[in-house]
Amino acid sequence: MEKLEQLYEGKAKKIYKTEDPDVVWLEYKDDATAFNGLKKGTIEGKGSLNNLISAHFFQMLEEKGITTHFVKLINDREMLCKDVKIVLVEVVTRNIAAGSLAKRIGYEEGTVLPLPIVEFYYKDDELGDPLINNYHIKILDLATPEQLAKMEEMALKINEILVGYLKDKRVTLVDFKLEFGIHKGEIILADEISPDTCRFWDADTKEKLDKDRFRRDLGNVEDAYKEILKRLTGQN
Ligand code: 5GP
Repeated sequence: MEKLEQLYEGKAKKIYKTEDPDVVWLEYKDDATAFNGLKKGTIEGKGSLNNLISAHFFQMLEEKGITTHFVKLINDREMLCKDVKIVLVEVVTRNIAAGSLAKRIGYEEGTVLPLPIVEFYYKDDELGDPLINNYHIKILDLATPEQLAKMEEMALKINEILVGYLKDKRVTLVDFKLEFGIHKGEIILADEISPDTCRFWDADTKEKLDKDRFRRDLGNVEDAYKEILKRLTGQN
């Protein structure tokens, strides 16, 4: 497979064409942004860590019956994925109050929710990814009710799988953001699952092992990402 012209550059990844119209080439970047691009930086090694961590999660989820866009790893920083049309709805699932939820409903960060909850955000940088509901999704024509129901069902299933899997690695899954794509008419899991898109806390010490270390200037960002890869794969 050959890397052809660049199709797109996002905040964390570049996407290239390949000679197969159904397959794209993803390159993960070290660039880090937060607060809708207001905070910018570089996390050395982030691109390869997120690529390897995402590949690990995608492979594990595929084994448990979740269809993802992942095709195969090319090298530490790059993977091949199915070409999808990204649904402009970010799906956030939460087990513990943190970040914007803690602010919005006045819960102390760390409060365990009585049940996992799912939220939808409009993937639009200019608007700052606002929280939206099924009515907004309908009038904006972002997804059909069937597609939305499928994304919610998949998010809850993925949450159940990830919570159990990570518990064994002594990692608490606080919350995470998923993006879905349409591939041959079907909703499949796309984008990435990494410390950029999840809140991971050490199960014993509650130490943050994710992008909140960058967002909140806590230091040791790269070490936290490395620790997640190590817990998942035993790789250093
Ligand atoms: P919050 O709404 O509390 O800021 O984020 C909830 C969860 O979704 C966190 O795990 C956060 O990392 C993830 N998340 C939400 N929106 C985005 C986004 O635009 N980019 C990234 N990388 N993660 C997001």
